[in-house]
Amino acid sequence: MKTRTHLLGYPRIGEQRELKKATELYWKGKLSRAGLEAVGRNLREQNWKKQIAAGIDLVPCNDFSFYDQILDATCLFGNVPERFAWDGKAADLDTRFRIARGTHHLSTTSDHANECKNCHIATYASEMTKWFDTNYHYIVPEFKSTTEFKLSDTKIFNEYHEVKALGFDAKPTLIGPLSYLKLGKVTGGTSSNFDRMELLDRLIPVYEEILSRLGNEGASWIQLDEPILALDLTDKERTHYQRTYERLSQVSNSPKILVATYFGGLRQNLKAALDSPVAGLHFDAVRGRNELSELLAKFPSNKILSLGIVDGRNIWKNDFEDSLGILKQATSAVGEDRLWIAPSCSLLHSPVTLRNEPDLDGEIKDWLAFADEKMIEVDTLRNLLTGESDLNVLQANQESRERRNTSTKIRDLGVQARLKAITPGDSIRTSPFANRQSLQHEKLKLPLYPTTTIGSFPQTKDIRSARAKWKKGIMSNAEYDAFLKKETEHCVQFQNRIGIDMPVHGEFERNDMVEYFGEQLEGFLFTENGWVQSYGSRCVKPPIIYGDVSRPNPMTIYWSKFAQTLTQRPMKGMLTGPVTILQWSFARNDQPRDVTARQIALAIRDEVIDLEKIGIAAIQIDEPAFREGLPLREEDWPTYLAWAVDAFRLCSSGVRDDTQIHTHMCYSEFNDIIEAIAAMDADVITIETSRSNMELLDAFVDFDYPNEIGPGVYDIHSPRVPTTEEMEKLMEKAEAVLQRRNLWVNPDCGLKTRSWEEVEPSLINMVDAARNLREKA
Ligand code: GLN
Ligand code: ZN
Repeated sequence: MKTRTHLLGYPRIGEQRELKKATELYWKGKLSRAGLEAVGRNLREQNWKKQIAAGIDLVPCNDFSFYDQILDATCLFGNVPERFAWDGKAADLDTRFRIARGTHHLSTTSDHANECKNCHIATYASEMTKWFDTNYHYIVPEFKSTTEFKLSDTKIFNEYHEVKALGFDAKPTLIGPLSYLKLGKVTGGTSSNFDRMELLDRLIPVYEEILSRLGNEGASWIQLDEPILALDLTDKERTHYQRTYERLSQVSNSPKILVATYFGGLRQNLKAALDSPVAGLHFDAVRGRNELSELLAKFPSNKILSLGIVDGRNIWKNDFEDSLGILKQATSAVGEDRLWIAPSCSLLHSPVTLRNEPDLDGEIKDWLAFADEKMIEVDTLRNLLTGESDLNVLQANQESRERRNTSTKIRDLGVQARLKAITPGDSIRTSPFANRQSLQHEKLKLPLYPTTTIGSFPQTKDIRSARAKWKKGIMSNAEYDAFLKKETEHCVQFQNRIGIDMPVHGEFERNDMVEYFGEQLEGFLFTENGWVQSYGSRCVKPPIIYGDVSRPNPMTIYWSKFAQTLTQRPMKGMLTGPVTILQWSFARNDQPRDVTARQIALAIRDEVIDLEKIGIAAIQIDEPAFREGLPLREEDWPTYLAWAVDAFRLCSSGVRDDTQIHTHMCYSEFNDIIEAIAAMDADVITIETSRSNMELLDAFVDFDYPNEIGPGVYDIHSPRVPTTEEMEKLMEKAEAVLQRRNLWVNPDCGLKTRSWEEVEPSLINMVDAARNLREKA
């Protein structure tokens, strides 16, 4: 039998985000459930047909989801948290949406709760967290020591029937039991020390039931995803892994099991993956490339090897010559009939198709491959390997690569020379923090507990519609400019009026904190429909960094300059940092990430210096994605942290001592990276702390963090207006452990998603809290 092609998963959102649109209509009550289900069914059918047409032999099913595949598994196993008052029968679509979105009404006043007949079942959604190092978010399964599992949903079987009815050979996909448990969390009164793996013996029988049912219905393969094999595991976890798959492999009449690993090599888990008695193993040959020889040398003679050769995590065309080399090596090790070819991971993480990008720069478009193009690459590679493809295809691929390598678009000699000329001194402020601090205090003359915000103010309907009109050309540049000025003025005047010590301009001119800069930088490309699912119905459209990055013109000076004319107080400049810009874009694959980060850093550095030149005394460089850039394996952290810290320092160290550099990070885990955070040497860091009740400040306290810090006291994720008293209490907690003169008072994050009705009273209370604290000081 010749080498087979397959996919681990295919994007479910639709070429025009059909799924998003239908789901949101359903939530608004404007589309029936049957209507929504029909949209899902049509998408699945189209997607399977596309895959078959592209030459995919074994298409995945159950990779579709109305919200998230891990949430689907939660419903499949009947692991619905108690608070959702589930009847224990079928965990259907609405059950999923309740878990994902909560049943909490937006109004949290007690009046509402008293009147509303739904509020007695109101409860909060399950937590959502990042899927490994992607920008996809899954719904975190919840476990207790008493959790029981029971087959409670039929989606996986229904989708298998659907695809079978179309006449296609399909492989149901499902998260594997180890990953399902490991990616969840312990809640509901069970001690956090409880080992979730203790639940394995209750979970395995459900898998056994699923396997035998799928087997009986004719499935020849099932894909069980165990991406945790790309993480650091304990010996105990590896033992559980062995034991689990030994059991699952014994299910009579079961489809053959393909364990899929991705997002990295297997390292210490390689042996466990190879020794396990399952019928096939999918290996990410892109990220695990350096392990390939070892893997092939040790690969058991009775297993199928699926090689993930086309990168599912980027948007670049595959290098056929290189891939063929790997595939040939694999064929000689395992033989043609035991080799399968696939993308490295599910195509969920790449945009759907280049077909709907008519306006994309033709030269650059030639270098790209989205999901649809990637699956054709998989088929082409198979055909090249088996000698069924015309060699012209190989040559055309080489020529395209050659055009990219030699394109004047990717290279900027000025940027490269500048990069070479960087010296260590460029990443060091003139004086140590203590000296800078006194110079800054002298210049800024801020009171104790200075108040500020994180940057954005409400992005109202009016603002979004004005931007849309301007983009469509319905609103002129002059009109749009006047509109934004009016909004900025209103925002700054509000801050003046309530007494915010360090105001911001409000970021009304920005749609997105990365896009705004990417659009003004050289080396970035934007697509029209290059959407990727982020969570639920939310999609993002990451920019593509294709060439050397530079800043042809100042990017924020116009708005900062204008805003400073509106207040006597020091207006804070607002930039996005190099690590975040890189992290939230599709990065180049023809140079290391750290090089791209340094290029972006130099561009931001120029902006920082220009802001200083026009008299901006404090500049915030946001790095909300700093932590998410951490590699999956701890042994790789130091390398990342070193270049990430350096990129931040490079962009922020070009200013005088008396210019205050702020940074902002909106998450709560700092313990393991506090040393790197301190090494960034920002004069002020603002972080998210309100929801953890200041607990996460511990990392800063234990480390003796020397610089200034603004622990967020206002949870901007909630519509609730925080009281003066509670914010004061939070600050008192902070003050007990940190030096008073180092403390700032600010919200957790930007206010763009909130309404003015919520923001006004909240900030007034926040300023009052700071005043009270000053009086007591
Ligand atoms: N300055 C940005 C804002 O306020 C920061 C956003 C973020 O941290 N994600 O919106
Ligand atoms: Zn934030």
